[in-house]
Amino acid sequence: MSLVQERRPTRQICIGNVNIGSKAPISVQSMTNTQTQDVAATVSQILALERAGCEIIRVAVPDMDAAKAIEKIKQHISIPLIADIHFDFRLALASAAAGADALRINPGNIGEAEKIKAVVACAREHHIPIRIGVNAGSLEREIEHRLGTTAEAMVESALGNIKILEDLDFHDIKVSLKASDVSRTVKAYQLLASKTDVPFHVGVTEAGGLYAGITKSAIGIGMLLAQGLGDTLRVSLTRDPVEEIRTGYEILRALGIRNRGPELISCPTCGRCKIDLFKIAEQVEKSLLERSSQIKVAIMGCMVNGPGEAKEADIGIAGGDGKGILFKRGRVIRKIDQDKLVDQLLSEIDNMTKNSEELNGKKG
Ligand code: SF4
Repeated sequence: MSLVQERRPTRQICIGNVNIGSKAPISVQSMTNTQTQDVAATVSQILALERAGCEIIRVAVPDMDAAKAIEKIKQHISIPLIADIHFDFRLALASAAAGADALRINPGNIGEAEKIKAVVACAREHHIPIRIGVNAGSLEREIEHRLGTTAEAMVESALGNIKILEDLDFHDIKVSLKASDVSRTVKAYQLLASKTDVPFHVGVTEAGGLYAGITKSAIGIGMLLAQGLGDTLRVSLTRDPVEEIRTGYEILRALGIRNRGPELISCPTCGRCKIDLFKIAEQVEKSLLERSSQIKVAIMGCMVNGPGEAKEADIGIAGGDGKGILFKRGRVIRKIDQDKLVDQLLSEIDNMTKNSEELNGKKG
């Protein structure tokens, strides 16, 4: 029985060629941490993210140089780009003109009605959605004064921002409600879920370094997805954004929602392990990152228990004394010298992938 509840029905929006909401797959996105106007660095980071499976990228647009750089960046990347703007409506107009596929801007922060109207008219003209990004740390002063930085305050802010856009007959919207702790984040999305059919961008913001960030994100995003809440996600880590993409897919995989790339299982090692399994597992994990085949790979410490314990894996290795074995579905294929284990495992994985693609091609 799946532990994931039925997905909340939402309207569907489209960012570039990626659909968000309704029955569209839950997409995984990230944000660059380069200076956006440094086109070479930004493109290089986005291409690395694309290889890791990133489906939508957001870039910060703090000034006009950054807005103008979007045009050049777009020429080199294949995934849709969201321009992240705070306050200055002119940056939104310039980003849309430069080819941004969506805008992240809170209408409540733009100021006068005429400026909001200009942004909405521009988004309509370019057929690009607007993401309302409510953050517990930057709520409207009046709401914060009345309700504090609570989940209820975040929801009120989101509803206010949604109303501003919908009063202008603009419905191409998604919304995020982020706090740096799991309970407020989850509560806010739960409260908003029944009040609007706007798709949800889910995540826990400023989640922290690797361990705190992954843990908070896995629990927060995981709880929401398990309740059917969330149409696109971003994991926030104070790390290389590629780690955010990896974590995002692992969360989806753990819940049985979406798979991307090989799944790695490995044992924690014990006194029976006589090889440097930590190093081997790390090498294999890195090498598997850019492979997209959905194969289950096991890295086990000993021959005694390894192949049996990992018999659900399509392929795996288990360590011995100076030597290791390669096994497929628990059946031993051959013995290999320890220093050749990783290379042979990877080439075997590539062969299996190639063969199954050929087989599928023939079937198709
Ligand atoms: S597979 Fe072998 S080395 Fe790994 S935990 Fe099990 S018994 Fe220990």
